[in-house]
Amino acid sequence: YEAKKSHYSFCYYSASYQPSSKQHMQLIDKIRNAIEKKEFSLHFQPIYIPGTKEIYSVEALIRWQQPDGRYISPSLFIPVAEKAGLVSAISKLVIHQSFQQLSRWQEQGFSPRLQLNLSAHDLGDNQLVEYIQARLERFDVDPGHVVLEITESAMMRDIQTAKATMTSLYKLGLTLCVDDFGAGYTCLTMLSDLPIKQIKIDSRYVIEMSRKNNNFQIISSVAFLAKNIGAEVVIEGIENEGQLKRLSSIPNALLQGHFLCEPMCARDIEAHLQQEQLLYID
Ligand code: C2E
Ligand code: MG
Ligand code: MG
Ligand code: MG
Repeated sequence: YEAKKSHYSFCYYSASYQPSSKQHMQLIDKIRNAIEKKEFSLHFQPIYIPGTKEIYSVEALIRWQQPDGRYISPSLFIPVAEKAGLVSAISKLVIHQSFQQLSRWQEQGFSPRLQLNLSAHDLGDNQLVEYIQARLERFDVDPGHVVLEITESAMMRDIQTAKATMTSLYKLGLTLCVDDFGAGYTCLTMLSDLPIKQIKIDSRYVIEMSRKNNNFQIISSVAFLAKNIGAEVVIEGIENEGQLKRLSSIPNALLQGHFLCEPMCARDIEAHLQQEQLLYID
């Protein structure tokens, strides 16, 4: 790997910004307007197979650029959209756009898997499964190439509903991933009751690895757990060479982070997919 310093160092409106209630209402209006005008775009960040330059899959991350060029972070506007009941409209845009992108890539001869993030509220949306099925057909996307990332807190909010929705999605052939595993009150019930085939360990375990002695053991144990239940494991948030070296020693773990590659627009990620193709030809 080589560290890639790119022009993707955005200036975000801070996620810790505390809006007044008037600003909050204005933000909700802005989100509603952005949904109508489809102002959201997607950036993509690869997930790698360690020891190779092979891209295993790419994660779609939503981006909302303002007229002044700055971006509002999804960590800020997604929770606001959730509370305002607007997030399922956003998720539908993300599903539509990412499937369309995946089918374009397939036409160009690339076949990465695509991972997209769903929100806590999506699991309770009874149109979600039908919507996904319809878009899979419309864009002729292989469901085996799609991974849906859902946070563990979303799954645990209402485990019966989560189970019903996730089982339907699993039957459609999609892979379900628990994102930010270990971030909150992780409950193993989730792994035993839900059709989870990928675990993404919360990036905090990596970021605090040098300071907290047990973190590496925790990460490798989760990787071992994943393997034993037939699930993939992704370690995200890799920011430096030291972390990469240590974490590459964990068998079967997939790796992601700024040190490997930052999220970038579709056109730029295509260059990476192209390089990977050249590697195959060699
Ligand atoms: P996530 O799904 O856990 O995504 C990982 C976040 O970490 C992304 O931030 C990514 O850009 C960032 N990241 C990647 N590599 C590194 C690294 O090496 N170090 C650090 N510190 N961060 C790294 P982003 O794009 O701002 O997204 C934040 C969160 O917003 C996501 O966390 C996800 O929960 C949510 N989100 C993003 N896109 C969507 C979407 O399309 N739909 C929904 N519902 N939520 C989304
Ligand atoms: Mg994610
Ligand atoms: Mg995550
Ligand atoms: Mg990531």
